[in-house]
Amino acid sequence: MRRTHRFVAPILGATLILFLASSCADRERMTSIPDDPQASWDLGPSSEHAVPTAPGSTVADSATGVVFHFPDGGSGALHVAPILSGPPAPYEGHGFSVEYAGEEVVQVLLDPDGPSRIYVFGYGMPEGAHNDPAGTPRWVTMPTVGTLDGKDVCLLTLPFGTAGAGLGSVAAPTIPRGARSPMASMAPTAPASALRFAEQPRGFSKYWISSIPVGATVTDTMLAIELQSSSFRDNLVSALTPARRTAAEAEINGRMNPNYAYDGNYYQGFWWRSLGAHGRLIHPTLHYRTRANAGNIAHELGHYFTHVLVGDDTWSILEGQAPLWDTGHGIRDVVGRGVLLEEYAYIPEFHLTGNVKGYNLFEPYDVFRSMTPLVTDYPSVEGFGAVILASLARPDDHVRDLITGRPVPAPVTNLPWSDLYEIVAQGATDIDALRGEIETRLGADANKLSAMLGRCGWTYSIRGRYVDASGGGVSGVTTTAVSRVGATTYEDGYTTLGSGADGSFSVVGGVFGGASELRAVKGPDTTFVAIHIDWTRPTSSSVEVGNLTVSFPPAITSLSVNSGRPGDAVTISGRNFGATQGGGSVSFNGAAAAVTSWSDEAISATVPEAARSGPVTVTRGAVTSNGIGFTVTGVGRWVFYEIEEDDWPAVGGTWCNFVDFQKQTNSFTLRCGYDNPYFEEQSWTDWETHVSGSWTIPPAELRAGEELVMTLTISTEFVLVDNPPTQSEASAGWTYLSANADDSSPPILNTNGTQVTTLHIRNVGYDPLVDRLVIRVTGGGYTGRIMRGYWYRWEQ
Ligand SMILES: [Zn+2]
Repeated sequence: MRRTHRFVAPILGATLILFLASSCADRERMTSIPDDPQASWDLGPSSEHAVPTAPGSTVADSATGVVFHFPDGGSGALHVAPILSGPPAPYEGHGFSVEYAGEEVVQVLLDPDGPSRIYVFGYGMPEGAHNDPAGTPRWVTMPTVGTLDGKDVCLLTLPFGTAGAGLGSVAAPTIPRGARSPMASMAPTAPASALRFAEQPRGFSKYWISSIPVGATVTDTMLAIELQSSSFRDNLVSALTPARRTAAEAEINGRMNPNYAYDGNYYQGFWWRSLGAHGRLIHPTLHYRTRANAGNIAHELGHYFTHVLVGDDTWSILEGQAPLWDTGHGIRDVVGRGVLLEEYAYIPEFHLTGNVKGYNLFEPYDVFRSMTPLVTDYPSVEGFGAVILASLARPDDHVRDLITGRPVPAPVTNLPWSDLYEIVAQGATDIDALRGEIETRLGADANKLSAMLGRCGWTYSIRGRYVDASGGGVSGVTTTAVSRVGATTYEDGYTTLGSGADGSFSVVGGVFGGASELRAVKGPDTTFVAIHIDWTRPTSSSVEVGNLTVSFPPAITSLSVNSGRPGDAVTISGRNFGATQGGGSVSFNGAAAAVTSWSDEAISATVPEAARSGPVTVTRGAVTSNGIGFTVTGVGRWVFYEIEEDDWPAVGGTWCNFVDFQKQTNSFTLRCGYDNPYFEEQSWTDWETHVSGSWTIPPAELRAGEELVMTLTISTEFVLVDNPPTQSEASAGWTYLSANADDSSPPILNTNGTQVTTLHIRNVGYDPLVDRLVIRVTGGGYTGRIMRGYWYRWEQ
């Protein structure tokens, strides 16, 4: 079939469809070609070539001088026509238009003409990430994929494909994995963004071949760009952790060794062959304009670096996020939470050059000035992911407030760049997943996340209602959003008006995401209320937080009277008692009081019978108020004030001399020796009496109605020291427990044994005729008596 000249692209598209339909009726028609409908082409006569089926076949077109290579063999016919005129060419050279219905891989063989760089360009939309304005077809560099017989082999991506098989229209999950080495395919679970990319029509029918002599100025420029890019690349690699660096270097020096092309500023990780069953071909290419500046070079290198870090499958997803055929993108544009592609390039760009298109990523105000999270979902804004990543490395502990521009405190985590790249390497493909990775990386510092992201603008508006423990609305409560990290409180600078009569309140903006708190203030009282806002909510939405229970501590300001008898009524004035008593209580120095009325600011109570003078308190929940002193009259208690000295010996005889007497707090010991000269001639001279005892220590006070038990125990032992007395001689007051005629085995003699005295005392209260109470315990035996007295006096 011989083709006629075609002059305008729409005509080309129409004739191409006709061509496909007529020659390959079993195939469905291809989708539209992303060609420039405005471009006018003037083509020379088209030549038709039969394509051999043998692998490695070549077809030479004499009119254009182009040699086509079919590494897998071909089928049907190849139509080639020279381009006589068209859109401005990138460099000097010549072009051709090609049509081919087969699904086989098509390459061209290039014969370098001396020391020169040969480039093949296709006309249409570039694939992959880029910063150029979207929607502008241009000459795009085709990848050189190897050499064959001394010739460079350049891949063509023709706009062919069929529904269900070709990438031109197929859904990505249907592409078989690993169809052919070294090609891979997209993961079967590729997300929507990747599908969107895969579904885009692609491929070129117009090609241009340029040969740029080495030594030309443009070549010097290219070399300079490549050197700068390599230098930047080394900087980035050296910033990685040792393990990550080793892995990255292996990729960069191996299969991901970057290619350079000069048709625009963008990075392209793969070539998606129009022959869909073959999937993607890894071909990392840094595309630069020959007038690229350091920022451009760093940025596109950042994309490449991200590809190295995240691997092919994640990069496929990220590259699929490139809004190539959408309305465009750029820092501060709303691109959605599902687009992280540029964020990961901005970070290396910021790292290498200190800014991103003039913006300081350390300063959210600088980037997002004049925008507000009340209107725009900040995490959907391009640049936001890079700003929150950069905030992790920010050394300053202040940033500018997003609204006022004034410095406000901000958490510092000071992560090294290596940690930022570790986060990137986790391969999050949307902002919520990235936030999760950041939280994980922060570890023990994760409690800084709410304030950290809040300072970047990830904040919310909320509506809610303050209620007390019983569910009643709490009015007059003002609110400030805060995030407390240790001893530091980060707060939104804005404080609301008081809550309404039913407790309802709202905070417009500034409320931290995740787990944070509201500082609720009512009069002089402050409490903190924990809240949690799901990070996935758009910042521009108002979040209903429902009923929030606030518990301000009860406080007493005054009592209606400051003294009284049991049974008297007392009104307690103060605040935060609660609208109803509920589980609340009133105490008079520990004694529970009956309540006759209860409101938030006043309680009436009755002085209880068991009341003692002391503080009156109100308890609500687990919180007890301050205490205000109250004197209970008409009741009182005996209060210990003095010990009566021991009285020893009260009785006894002059014939007994003390050898030793020791008193302890609640016991005593005594040794009494018999050394009266009058008895010295007697045979039972040398004996001693040992007395020991103990008594109960009475309490410090005796309250009305209380019963006290006191016990005194005294043991007396007669100890023979030398010669035992005879039975008759011992009769003078000593009682033998046993008798033994044998003096060599003395018996134990005991006058009283163990004597226990128990007193039962009941305090019946105050007797106006008696102002003192003494409790005296006594005991003893033949040798003497021990006595101790406890003196009490009445107190009210
Ligand atoms: Zn970019």
